[in-house]
Amino acid sequence: MAGTMHFQIEGLRANVENKEILKGFDLTIKNGEVHAIMGPNGTGKSTLASVLMGHPKYEVTAGAISLDGEDLLEMSVDERARAGLFLGMQYPSEIPGVTNSDFLRSAINARREEGNEISLMKFIRQLEAKMKELEMNPQFAHRYLNEGFSGGEKKRNEILQMLLLEPRLTILDEIDSGLDIDALRIVADGVNSMRGEDRSFLIITHYQRLLNYIKPDFVHVMMQGRIVRSGGPELAERLENEGYEWLKEELGIVDEVGQEA
Ligand code: ADP
Ligand code: MG
Repeated sequence: MAGTMHFQIEGLRANVENKEILKGFDLTIKNGEVHAIMGPNGTGKSTLASVLMGHPKYEVTAGAISLDGEDLLEMSVDERARAGLFLGMQYPSEIPGVTNSDFLRSAINARREEGNEISLMKFIRQLEAKMKELEMNPQFAHRYLNEGFSGGEKKRNEILQMLLLEPRLTILDEIDSGLDIDALRIVADGVNSMRGEDRSFLIITHYQRLLNYIKPDFVHVMMQGRIVRSGGPELAERLENEGYEWLKEELGIVDEVGQEA
């Protein structure tokens, strides 16, 4: 239902390889809101993204996730995508043998009812328009998905998917890493062009820089598997200027092995 989207994560706990990574994660995203999650490396940001998308490697042990009151944890990966979830990945996989264009068209059609597939003409028109918007070389449509793409090209390609799929909730995991400033601006423009009442965003980033271009409504700091502080864009600025130490001190957090600020 447009206008009522409500994404809620409550008390989420999840393991990977029997190690607990998410330790009571809570977050509510309302329709049209942009939330940013920042945090040191190894705090579970990518794990959160994978759990939301239903990656089988991650075992949810407690908590609830709902989208418009529907139980997300009961949904398969495909059902989550059809419900309007999209993840732009930190490390997109390469799929040799499948062209970017074929992949994108299948992804669009997988989200549509049978018999209501997008026509080839319409798809090509949309693809060309969006690639132009992202200043991508048209050749990328015909190359195998992500194969031999540079880090920045992969990220741009994730945004291309987002623009074509028009998800209701977009999760972007460190979409800014590996992007130079021009690419960052193009990617941010792509996101900003999609912002609106019936779309929401969860933007995971290690650096504040991206948030100069995509202004979040809320900023959350994640440490040791949960949100430890929430605020507005000023929180991101403070972290940029002062790092995470002050917050760790305030919270009495001692670094775990494998975590770095
Ligand atoms: P972040 O994205 O915040 O840097 P991650 O979610 O990638 O953190 O990782 C959090 C912790 O979970 C790390 O200790 C990492 O080694 C572990 N982890 C994440 N995914 C896997 C996996 N697929 N296999 C083993 N360990 C994992
Ligand atoms: Mg990560």
